[in-house]
Amino acid sequence: MKDTCVTMTLPVFDTLKKVFGFQSFRPNQEEIIRNILERKDVFAVMPTGGGKSLCYQLPARLMKGTTVVISPLISLMKDQVDAALENGISATFINSSLSPEETTSVFRRLRNNSLDLLYIAPERYAMPGFTEILKTVSISLFAIDEAHCISEWGHDFRPDYMSLSDITKTFPDTPVTAFTATATPKVQNDIIRKLGLRSPFTIRASFNRPNLYYRVESKRELKTQVLDIIRKYPGEPGIIYRTTRDSVTHMADMLKEKGIRVLPYHAGLSQEERKINQEAFNRDEVNVITATIAFGMGIDKSNVRFVIHADLPKNIEGYYQETGRAGRDGEPAECVLFFGRQDIPKIKYFIDQMPDGPERTVASDKLTQMIQYASHNVCRRRQLLGYFGEEVADKNCGTCDICTGTVEKVDVTTDAQIIMSAMSRTEQRFGIVHIIDIVTGADTRRIRELEHHKIKTYGAGKDRDKNHWRFIVDELLAQDVIHQDGDRYPILKLTEKGKHILFGKEKVSALKRQDSKKKLSSGKIRGLEQYDEALFERLRALRKTLADGQGVPPYIVFSDKTLREMCRRYPSAMPDMAGITGVGTAKLERYGRDFIKEITAYLAEHQATSIVSAQ
Ligand code: ADP
Ligand code: MG
Repeated sequence: MKDTCVTMTLPVFDTLKKVFGFQSFRPNQEEIIRNILERKDVFAVMPTGGGKSLCYQLPARLMKGTTVVISPLISLMKDQVDAALENGISATFINSSLSPEETTSVFRRLRNNSLDLLYIAPERYAMPGFTEILKTVSISLFAIDEAHCISEWGHDFRPDYMSLSDITKTFPDTPVTAFTATATPKVQNDIIRKLGLRSPFTIRASFNRPNLYYRVESKRELKTQVLDIIRKYPGEPGIIYRTTRDSVTHMADMLKEKGIRVLPYHAGLSQEERKINQEAFNRDEVNVITATIAFGMGIDKSNVRFVIHADLPKNIEGYYQETGRAGRDGEPAECVLFFGRQDIPKIKYFIDQMPDGPERTVASDKLTQMIQYASHNVCRRRQLLGYFGEEVADKNCGTCDICTGTVEKVDVTTDAQIIMSAMSRTEQRFGIVHIIDIVTGADTRRIRELEHHKIKTYGAGKDRDKNHWRFIVDELLAQDVIHQDGDRYPILKLTEKGKHILFGKEKVSALKRQDSKKKLSSGKIRGLEQYDEALFERLRALRKTLADGQGVPPYIVFSDKTLREMCRRYPSAMPDMAGITGVGTAKLERYGRDFIKEITAYLAEHQATSIVSAQ
């Protein structure tokens, strides 16, 4: 009994440490791996960045035979194979980009039993004769990545995945595992049933991403607001999502003018252009990509430090998935939504174009939830996770604008009453601009013609500017205190809730950003432990050179997390370097000396200054 424990425990941790260079497992990884090693089927839903690849790559290294990974995108396959190779795992892929000779050579390696990992697309699995070949070689495990693609109920159904539905029958003795980042319980059951998984060990991990900081800002001077964020992360990667191709192009041009290294990405660009731009971003050749939601699937880039939504997303699923591309390396990253009420009618217009029926209602409800996310005084994390049916245990999540108090709740009942009184005294027949004109005591022709300067509320709010009153109106709309009626010239109407507030039976409060003095420093928002930033710049440059030499993206050489750890611990000999997270044996051999040399040189140059500052 004891013996089996020892032989099970040691190789698993040893491999984690030596091959991947990690000191500990992320949540659920160990249990999944142990079940796989016991040859059980596995089904796992884990968030983006949760570390799903390790769950099958580690057993692939330990088990006899080849692990076959089914993955939907060629670009993703290539990066995953590169990452495995960097860790010294023998890995390759078969897909349409290979010549017949190259494919034959992969088959040879399969037969020689010299491959730990083989990546294929589902189309390949379906090709006549392919499973026959697999049956003649030793397969340790099947790992189906992005497994939600097999379900019509999911948001990303791919008919090619259906060919996998005979996999457990065709390979009755081989464990089959399925991984995804998005599956409702309904989709989960569908996947398990379609793949015929045999009483799988099942994990539904928490969707919480503790290293992501969520905040919402009202969209005012978008250009300045976006630039402020980019400048907080000099030289570091970020994604800006926009809804239309034009706005993507416009934003990219604007940023380029400001000296930011940026490229656009949207479905209107040729396939070649999209590939080039994605690759440039992946390889840290540009820092920022401005994109429509067409961008994202198919990149595993781990060092994205911020994701900005410059327009309102249509629903929380999409929003969560897009923000999820930040901070896969587990280092702090920021997700900012610029919320402007002017974006709502555009989305509503699209929803109205949908054929009448349940789908339209669902889309409309989802939009309402998205608006609530942006406008309610509730912890952002609690709202996001709540949407997926998960509760947040902590009252204060500590990493969103609400919980860190960069926004404060202020009572706006009196201001709300001024607006609503102006509405009510003009019989709720006017729109936002006119109501604000009344409240601020504007001298317009329309006001004179309608004699609205004679009503009691005229000028009641003239000590505040129009922006303030626009803010109040937006808040009241968001909280359903008032609503807009009519499409072309919408007029403001009171809701039941509004009437209660107008007559003093209820109060209303709004979220306001605190003045800049009280704002969190970017360091606090970034939540980074201190590190030597000057050294980081040098190591990053070195990483880029080495990555280019190997023809892989820089984050595959070492993650930002790994570089930062070097910038705290200054490893100056091979054994110290081996102790850094993300430095496994293969990477130590390949890159250890170069990094030690750079760190030692840096220390020598800076010794004088550090001695002085230490005194
Ligand atoms: P997923 O496929 O679930 O989105 P990945 O497999 O791409 O996530 O992993 C995300 C990042 O986390 C990668 O950079 C990976 O190297 C890193 N990672 C995975 N497991 C661990 C671990 N146990 N410790 C530290 N980093 C890890
Ligand atoms: Mg993955």
